[in-house]
Order: sequence, then structure tokens, then C-alpha cells
Amino acid sequence: MTSASHTKGLARLQLVTLGITLAAIALFILVGGAALTHTMQVLRGIGHADDALSMLLLANIAIIFGGWLRHKRLTDQLAAVTAREQEARRLAEFDPLTGCLNRRSLLPAVDRLLAATARSSETLVLFLIDLDNFKQINDRHGHEAGDIALTTVARRLRAVQQQGGVVARLGGDEFACAAIMPERYRIPAEELAGGLIAAVAEPITVGGTDLQIDLTMSIGMVAAGAASPRTSEAAALLNQADVAMYRAKRQGKNRFAWFAPEMLQELELRRTLEQGIRAGLAAGEFEPYYEQQVDLVTGQISGFEMLARWRSPTHGVLTPDIFIPAAEEMGLITELSEHLISRALQDASEWDACLTLSVNISPVQLRDPWFAQRILKLLVTHNFPPARLDIEITESCLHDNPDEVRAMILSLRNQGIKVSLDDFGTGYASLNQLRDLTFDHLKIDRSFVSSMTTNDANRTIVDAVLDLGRALNLPVTAEGIETEEIVSALQSRGRIKGQGRLYGKPESTAAVRQRLGRLGMLRQSQPAEAPEERLKASNA
Ligand code: C2E
Ligand code: MG
Ligand code: MG
Repeated sequence: MTSASHTKGLARLQLVTLGITLAAIALFILVGGAALTHTMQVLRGIGHADDALSMLLLANIAIIFGGWLRHKRLTDQLAAVTAREQEARRLAEFDPLTGCLNRRSLLPAVDRLLAATARSSETLVLFLIDLDNFKQINDRHGHEAGDIALTTVARRLRAVQQQGGVVARLGGDEFACAAIMPERYRIPAEELAGGLIAAVAEPITVGGTDLQIDLTMSIGMVAAGAASPRTSEAAALLNQADVAMYRAKRQGKNRFAWFAPEMLQELELRRTLEQGIRAGLAAGEFEPYYEQQVDLVTGQISGFEMLARWRSPTHGVLTPDIFIPAAEEMGLITELSEHLISRALQDASEWDACLTLSVNISPVQLRDPWFAQRILKLLVTHNFPPARLDIEITESCLHDNPDEVRAMILSLRNQGIKVSLDDFGTGYASLNQLRDLTFDHLKIDRSFVSSMTTNDANRTIVDAVLDLGRALNLPVTAEGIETEEIVSALQSRGRIKGQGRLYGKPESTAAVRQRLGRLGMLRQSQPAEAPEERLKASNA
């Protein structure tokens, strides 16, 4: 029996018992009247006591009493069932943590708003909200603090949301608001989005302690009304708002973006890319390529930087800007990176022991507390000396979580692994960080080096970084060396390492092995060329 029919059955039974009790009371009034008259007559000596009447009266009293008891029990039972049903409905429709509507109940609520706006000139605007980097808040401050942040966000969204609209939590750190706007909805909708962002950006204090959480969020927006396509389905609107939210994230987070139909095509491309990455990883299509690093004074190769490449069966060899950000967002970067580093360690084990191997690390990997252990495990597996491995991290890693990064760098260096700061000059590394974080190398970004002989400002920046390196006792590597002129300019500035297109494009494992074989720089191989040849930077 369903819960609704059970409740109906109980209510019917309650009515029946009430009816029987009331009938018994009416009968009691009638029989009681007759019994009273008869008793009076017996007392006056007229007639005899009537046993049947007394029995009837007693039976009548028993029915009233029993009926009332049964009615009361049924009333209590019905109240309990109704309360249980209401609780079940509340749980099914509302998010238990924040008290907002949940994903299931949002859709019918939006459908109702859509139906209401369809009969008027008004517009429904749906806002899909995702908190930025919320996982870090849970990881760093614990789930209790995360829950406090979520309930505070929900309260603030409800406070800013207009009357008649709805606020829902779709799960995790995802919320949605739906609001009815006038026909010319864009400005008021953007004002509301700005208000939501500002409300959530107010610091959240956790449990009256000193701990403060600062949150930002990305919002995807879509409108349905007279002045925009009338999408009749809440689910389709939610999907479109999700696509727009994704755009807001990609544009740098902490902002809103409107849905546009072209975004669906982008989404399709993105899905294809994601499927390709998964399949490519399983099929071993990701390969390490290598770029030479050269001692500019001696001209000798000092090592190689590993650069990821995807040998896609359909698109040829693809560069990391296409697949690294997607792998980061898909949560596949650790698997991808470890696969590549493992292959690179295997390759580098065949190289001369004086050659180093540099690898690039994503900020996502640095957030993993076990990162140093994972690298160490790979080194042990390949029996590779830690001092030959150089981990390159970019400046963007530093301001995310400086304390964790400091601990990680220390842990890597304690194992003997080198750590370099990559693309220096393009991010926000402070001089304090440079002093405190104790890197082994500083790499000047190629945007300054490649034009240092043609652009005075960039030459000045290169000189300033070289001075800084000298002052902090940090060896400097110049990226983006494209001409002999740049090499000469750098050679006159001290002992610097360099890399760039002048020494050739990044090469595959086999090409590097051939190159090193020619130079006699493979393990257990004999020099194929005169030793002085080895001292020359080897042009491709
Ligand atoms: P990066 O570490 O700064 O690497 C140098 C990039 O500059 C490489 O691009 C290289 O091919 C390019 N390059 C080298 N010399 C020159 C030059 O003279 N002129 C110009 N215009 N460009 C030059 P690539 O291979 O496309 O890599 C781009 C970025 O992708 C890398 O920048 C690195 O940050 C990232 N990356 C590469 N492999 C990995 C990886 O395995 N994991 C992670 N997380 N990031 C990676
Ligand atoms: Mg690099
Ligand atoms: Mg770089």
C-alpha cells in the first residue's frame, strides 16, 4: 500500500469511528431519557426495574467509550503518519544542510515560473552558481568549516534574491537562483548577479574564531522570455546556464557570463577532447618530448626539459596548451604527469650521468600532500639519482597556498631533488617568496629573452633578473633563445644556462637518443665524435 492510500484509509477509518461514537452518543441521549423516566417511575413505585433497558444503556456507554478511544488512537496515528509524510517531503524537496530547494524540486519550481512568465511580458532568468576553489576550503579548513561556508552562502543568496524567485542548492558547491525580471531584463539581471557575487565575497567567520574564509563564485546566466528564446523546459535552461557558468570559470572565475548558443558547440568540442584524453591516456598516446638546455659559456648540453606531447591518431602531435588545462580540470593531471615523468626517467636513465632532466608540474599537483612521496617513488622505481631531477613550478603555484608550497619545496629539496621557478617575470612572485622559498634555479620567461636584443625594456628586465639571481645566489636559465645574437648578449652577462628554438624544436625520445649517441653522451656508448664536438651546442 502507498503512503498516500495508507493515510486516506486511516482518515476514512477515523471518520467511521467518529460516526459510530456520535451515533452511540445520540442513542445514549434517547435511551438515557427513557431510562431516566423509567427509573423515576420505579422510584415512585410505578412498575418494575427493566433489566433489558439497563443492559442497553450499559452497552451504549461501552460503545461510546470504546469508539472515543479508537477515534483518539486513530487521530494520533494519523497525526504521526502526516508528520512523517511532511518530513519525507521536506527531505525530498529541500537540501538538509542549507534549507534551500534541492535539484529535484528546482526543476518543477522553474517550470512553474516559466509558465507564469509565458502569460506575461516578463522574463525568467536562471543563475547557475559554482563557488570557486571550494574544494581547497574543505581540504584546508575541514568539512565543518566548509558546511558553515555553504550555509552562509545560502543565507546570503536568499537575502539578495528577489521576492517570488527561488534559491536551490544543486549539490556540493553548486547553487541556482531563478528570478522573474522585466522584459528588458539584462541590466537588472546583471545587477542581481553583481549583488550575489558581492554578498558571497564578504568574509565568512567560522564559529566566532579568527578563521576567515574568503569566497568567490562564477555564475552562468540564461534568460527565457519575450525578448529571448522561450525555452519551455527548466532542464534545458539549467543545462544552458551550466555551459555559461563553465565559460565564466574559464574566463578567470569570480564573474558571470551569459549563455550564447555557440557555447554548445564549444561544449561538444570539449567533450570530444575529454574523451580523447581518457582514451589517449589508456592507449599510451602521451609522450615526453625534450628541449635541450645548454651551458651558454661552454656550449655543452647540460640537460633536457621534458615537454608533454599528445600523439593523437586523428590530429597529429598536439602541444600541452591544448590538453594540460583540460586534464587539470578533469582530475587526470596527476595520472598524466606521472605517466610522462615515468617515461622520461626511463629515457634519461640511458643518458650520460651529467645530464639533468627538468619536468613541469601543474599547480594542481602541488596541492597533493603526497606529491613529494610520489616523485620519490618514481625515482626509486627507475633508480634515478634525485640530484639529476629538476622540478619546474610556475609563479602561479606560489600565491595559491604559500605555506603548503613552501613545505613541499623543502621536502623535495631535502630528498636532493632540484626545484626551479619557471616563467619568472610573468606572474606575481614577490621578492619575499624568492628569498624564503630557496629555489635552485630561476628561469627567465621567454617573452623577455626572445626580444631582448630588439626591445630595450625587455633587455632591462633580463638584466634586472640576472642581478637578482646573483644577489640571491640563484643560477639563472634563459628561455626562448632564438638567435645567435641573443646567445652573445647573454654570454657577456655571466654564466647562464639557456634553451630555445636556436637549439632546435623539442624532440622525441628516439631523436634525443640519436643526438646523444652522436655526441657520445649515452651511457655505455663510445663518443662518435671528437670531444670538442661535444662542447658545441648541437643545432638541429
Ligand atoms: P615552459 O615550461 O615554459 O616550456 C617552454 C615552452 O616554450 C615550450 O612550449 C617550448 O616548446 C616553448 N619554447 C621553447 N623555446 C622557445 C623559443 O625559442 N621560442 C618560443 N616562442 N617558444 C619556445 P610547449 O612545449 O608548448 O609547452 C608550453 C608549456 O606547457 C610549458 O611551458 C609548460 O609550462 C607546460 N607543460 C609542458 N609539459 C608539461 C607537463 O608535462 N606538465 C605540465 N603540468 N605542464 C607542462
Ligand atoms: Mg618549464
Ligand atoms: Mg617556462
